[in-house]
Amino acid sequence: MTQGPMPVVPRPLPGEAIRSWVSRSGTRYGLTTSELLALLRGGIGVEHSRLWALDWQEDVELEALLTRASRLDAGRIEALRALADGWPDPADWHRWTLAWCPACVREDLVQYGESYERAAWRLGFYVVCPKHHATLVTACPGCSSHGARFGPCAGRQRLLCDCCREPVEAAGGDVPLGRPMAVPAVQAELLRLASGAVGVSPLWAGTPAGGCATLVRDFAALLLRPGWNGWGLARSKEEADRIHRRGLADLQPLAARDLLGRIGAILATVAFWEGHGDQQSGQWDQPGDGGFSSLVHRLSADEQDSLRASAAGWGPRLAHVVEVTVLRDQVERRCAAAAGNLARQEAAWARQAANRYVMEARRRIAARAARRAAAVLLQRRGPSQGPTGFSGPI
Ligand SMILES: [Zn+2]
Ligand SMILES: [Zn+2]
Repeated sequence: MTQGPMPVVPRPLPGEAIRSWVSRSGTRYGLTTSELLALLRGGIGVEHSRLWALDWQEDVELEALLTRASRLDAGRIEALRALADGWPDPADWHRWTLAWCPACVREDLVQYGESYERAAWRLGFYVVCPKHHATLVTACPGCSSHGARFGPCAGRQRLLCDCCREPVEAAGGDVPLGRPMAVPAVQAELLRLASGAVGVSPLWAGTPAGGCATLVRDFAALLLRPGWNGWGLARSKEEADRIHRRGLADLQPLAARDLLGRIGAILATVAFWEGHGDQQSGQWDQPGDGGFSSLVHRLSADEQDSLRASAAGWGPRLAHVVEVTVLRDQVERRCAAAAGNLARQEAAWARQAANRYVMEARRRIAARAARRAAAVLLQRRGPSQGPTGFSGPI
């Protein structure tokens, strides 16, 4: 093979990631992705980091080589990325541990004789398969270890377990979506915006397109706090920064699904506040314990200030809702503190009054006892005894 067109190159499959397509092309010649690209570059290898980055950023040289070798239009290769130009910090949304839909992988095998990686499966906010209504998985159904990757197997591409090296298309592994129902709606909206679509759904309460990713990140960072429903992550400054940047991408899909559901519930609460919750019926959970007021109430005063500052980037409507919610919570806290002070003052007064009453009662009891003792003494001495206690002849 030379740097010219390759004789056989598979076409990209629906939603396929660039690396998956390059990998499938390599399998036709018994080459790994790295080996194929090195061949196209005249024997010069490509660093792994550069190879991975093909998923989220343009690589002019490699894409020109792939265009020439595959005779595919450059635009078609570029369109394989799930994240369009302008999506903030695309590398931080990249999930390093592959998650996949077992039903999709099995169907691929039947339909194409091989399986392939969807670009969306690497996105931290992509947690459910909209076709099969199942949560993505990361564990091999055979040996239960986490970690699998697409690789060559008898001239075709298969999903192979990193541990047992077996294909993982076997039955099992599907996790039903279940609740919360907001997740598919949040995920679909994020995917639509990430792919460069213009116009934001009313579900986002007026958040500008560029602010939706920020909003999800900010909420994820707020929710991923120590002690928050068992998350229990460390919260050093570095850890907090990392959670803010990569919170969703570093979570297992099940945990990320839970978090997206909570974000959906918060947005639903905001929508109900604004009186257009009916638009979201059937798609979003009803606001409840995971609602926005509840979240705000659990934050410290510093975190509430941080939330207000963050909300400035979410659009004026959400910023207004955040402002009102925080202020209302602060008033409630002051009322609760004042009521607590009053209760403490009343309790202190009651204690003092009780002490005074007890002391007075003791004093009266002691006085009465003294009077009785004196009366008894007088009775024993008889009526002729004088006050000195001396009687009889001298
Ligand atoms: Zn699927
Ligand atoms: Zn395995």
